[in-house]
Order: sequence, then C-alpha cells, then structure tokens
Amino acid sequence: HQVLRIIPTNDEELQTVQELQDLEELQLDFWLAPRGLGHPVDIRVPFPSLQPLKAHLESNGISYSIMIEDVQTLVDHEQMEMLRGRRGLPLSTNTFDYATYHSLDEIYAFMDLLVAENPNLVSKLEIGRSTEDRPLYVLKFSKGGTNRPAIWIDTGIHSREWVTQASGVWFAKKIVQDHENNEGVASILDKMDIFLEIVTNPDGFVFTQTQNRMWRKTRSRRPGSVCVGVDPNRNWDAGFGGPGASGNACSETYHGPYANSEPEVKSIVDFVKSHGNIKAFISIHSYS
Ligand SMILES: [Zn+2]
Repeated sequence: HQVLRIIPTNDEELQTVQELQDLEELQLDFWLAPRGLGHPVDIRVPFPSLQPLKAHLESNGISYSIMIEDVQTLVDHEQMEMLRGRRGLPLSTNTFDYATYHSLDEIYAFMDLLVAENPNLVSKLEIGRSTEDRPLYVLKFSKGGTNRPAIWIDTGIHSREWVTQASGVWFAKKIVQDHENNEGVASILDKMDIFLEIVTNPDGFVFTQTQNRMWRKTRSRRPGSVCVGVDPNRNWDAGFGGPGASGNACSETYHGPYANSEPEVKSIVDFVKSHGNIKAFISIHSYS
C-alpha cells in the first residue's frame, strides 16, 4: 500500500477527487477526506489499485505526491518495536512503559493496577459489552460527592488510531499524579468527576493487533452483507447520515443501519443520558 497526497487547486480537481470516494472497486482509504481547495487529501491505496489510480489522476491532469512509499514497512517496524518491549503483563503503573504500544490485556491490566493503587480516587465501571462480548470499561476519577458535574473523555473509538489509546493510558496516570499538586487538575477534581474510556472500540483494537493494522470500524456483522463493521463515529444519533458518512456497508465511514446500532456507541449514549450531569464530552482522534 502507498499513501498519496493530492492538493486540489481548482473546483474541477476537487470534484474529481471527491468522485474517487465512490469508486468502490479501488478500495481507497481516505486518511484525509476532501475538505476544500488547498487542503491536502491523503489516500491509502492498495497495491493493485495504484497503477489505475495514478493513470486516472494523470489523465485528469491532477498532480500527486507519494507521502508513504510502503505502509507495510512501517507496520512491520512498529510490530518489531512492540515485540521488543513485551515483557508480560505490567506489575505497577510506575514501571509501565508509556512510550510503547500495548495489547488490550495489558491496557486492561494497567487499569486494574491504577484502581488498586489509588482506591480513593479511581474506580472502574463496566458500561456495556462490545459486539464480540468484550467489556467496555470506563475509569472514574472522583474525590467524592454524588453525581457531580463531570467531564467525559474517550480514546480509541477508531481502533487503528493507536496513539489515542496510548494517550488515554497516559492521561489516566497523569490525572492520578497531578490530582493533588497540579493546580488545574486539582481544581477540576475539587468540583467535578472525570470519566475516561481508553479502549472505546475493543473488538476493532484487537483486530488491528491480530489481523489488520488498518482496521478502523467496529466488528459487527449484518445479514446480507459481506462487509464487517460500522464506523462508530458516524453511528451517533447527532447528525446521523450527514456529510462525511456513507450508507455503503463496505465503506470505512459506514454509518450503520440506524443510529446507536453499535453496542460500543449505545453504551456511551446510555451512560451519558443516565448520568445526566456530563458538562463536557471530549473524543480523541488522531490522523487517519
Ligand atoms: Zn478517528
């Protein structure tokens, strides 16, 4: 796979690039979707589609640059780094390696350690189960009170955005470390609770680690479709089926058969509604 970058400079070029999104047979994966003139569009292109796409662009006079020559080389390198750092489940959140990527089991073990080490500040809730029956865990940071106003943070709703789950792990440790002496965090926790879901799409996350590093969606299946998964960030009730979402089950941005069809999304919606006092909702994404 290669990643190509195109910067549309006139309406015609923009139109041509937008139309690429409908060419299902090329299996293009838009890491940066077309947004307007002068904004880069990044497309991951499977090897068999490279020649046809490049020929198509050239015949339309659209210039492109090669952003990533070979995605697989980067993926292989990343995997080697992960294997090198693997030393079984973590034993303490102080010795946990925050600078490498971890498996689902390691992250779940990290959460349990954090709770065990800080029972008066951190607790773990299970807000539901994924399509493949994995628990959906949320860490709660609270200095007490009942149903205090709260901040919601989620990471990893797009499973391949690994730096977000890694950031979630680091946020969790940082909140604990700073809850007494850092003015900002301390003053927030004096009045509010923080809820943090680190692995928001666990089925997708496991799939990225075992089968396909580029998996972004959930792992739900529908009768009558060969394609698996829904883009959980297009499955919300708000703006369902709006711009940037696809009704095609094979698309990376498939919005699902109906709003909140995915248990990973429905669990958050139910939690936020039943809590009733969430004041801020922050969803962390990375490039792609
Ligand atoms: Zn994302």
